[in-house]
Amino acid sequence: MKVEFRHYHRHFERPLQTSHGSWKVRDGIILRLTDETKVGFGEIAPLRWFGSESFGQALDFCHQLPAEIDLETIAAIPVELPACQFGLESAWEDIVRGSLTEIQPSLARSGLLPTGEAALQSWQDLWHQGYRTFKWKLGVAPLQDEILVFKRLIQAIPTVAKLRLDANGGLSYPEACEWLQVCDQCELGIEFLEQPLSPAEFDAMRQLSTQYSTPLALDESVATLLQLEDCYQRGWRSIFVIKPAIAGSPSQLRQFCHAQKIDAVFSSVFETAIGRQAGLKLAAELCPNRAVGFGIDHWFNDQLEQPATFEQLWHSL
Ligand code: MG
Repeated sequence: MKVEFRHYHRHFERPLQTSHGSWKVRDGIILRLTDETKVGFGEIAPLRWFGSESFGQALDFCHQLPAEIDLETIAAIPVELPACQFGLESAWEDIVRGSLTEIQPSLARSGLLPTGEAALQSWQDLWHQGYRTFKWKLGVAPLQDEILVFKRLIQAIPTVAKLRLDANGGLSYPEACEWLQVCDQCELGIEFLEQPLSPAEFDAMRQLSTQYSTPLALDESVATLLQLEDCYQRGWRSIFVIKPAIAGSPSQLRQFCHAQKIDAVFSSVFETAIGRQAGLKLAAELCPNRAVGFGIDHWFNDQLEQPATFEQLWHSL
C-alpha cells in the first residue's frame, strides 16, 4: 500500500491547564494509505509529556517510511513509538476492515469541566449538550479551597450524573486520603478518582484502592500498553484509563483487554476526527459500558474537528 502523511498544527480555543502546565498547540500527523481501490486514514497524535514519543520523533519516523508499506513494516514499528504504531495500524485496519466508515454505536461521553470554580457554571452547558458524566481536575488549587468548590459542585450537579475526578498524579499521600474520605461520604456517586499519586507511588495507590469505596483509576501510570501490562502484573485490579492513540498497537491492546478482562475507560489525547473515530471504535469493542473521555466540540474550533469526510480533512492540510 502507498503511504502519505501530512502534519497538522491546531490551537486550542483556550490553553488547556493541566498539572503539567499550560498546553496551547496540538501537533500531529495524518496518514493516508491507498491500495488499488481503497483509501484508509490514520492519525499519529503523540503526547510526549504523557509518556509517548515526541512529535519530532514521530515525524522523523514518517520521513523514513518507504513509499509503499506492508504489514511487516507496521509490525516492525518499535514499541518506543506507540503513537506511530497506533496511527499506521489503524489506517491499515481502515482499509482492510473499513472500520472507520462503519457507524459507531453511540457511546456515552464524559465532558471535561474547566478547573476550579469555573466548573460550577460550565457543567450546565455540558448537561444541555447531553453529557451525564463529568470530569473535573484536582490538584490545581490548595486542597481545602478545592474541597469547598467540590462540595458546591456536587450539590449543583443532578444526582443522576456521574463525576470523575482527575488529580494527574498531583496529590500527596495524605491529600489523596483526604479526598477519598470526602468522596466516600458523597451522595452523588463519584465514579472514580483518577491517578491520585505519581506513577512512582504505585504500591501506595494499589493500597489505597483497597481501603476506600471510591474506585481508583490509573492514567499517567499506564500511558502505553507495556505499562498497562506491567501494572496489571503488579496487581492493579481497579480501573485503567486507556488513551488508545498513544497506547500502541490496537491489535495487541485488544488481545490484552480480552485476555485479562480489565475494567477500562477510554480517553482522548485531543486527536482530530480521524484518531477519535479509531479510538471510539476500540472503546465500543472493548469497554462499551463506561462513558468515554472523548468529549468533543469545545476545545477546538476548526475544520479538523467535524469534517464532512476524512478525505476533506486530508485536503484541508
Ligand atoms: Mg487523567
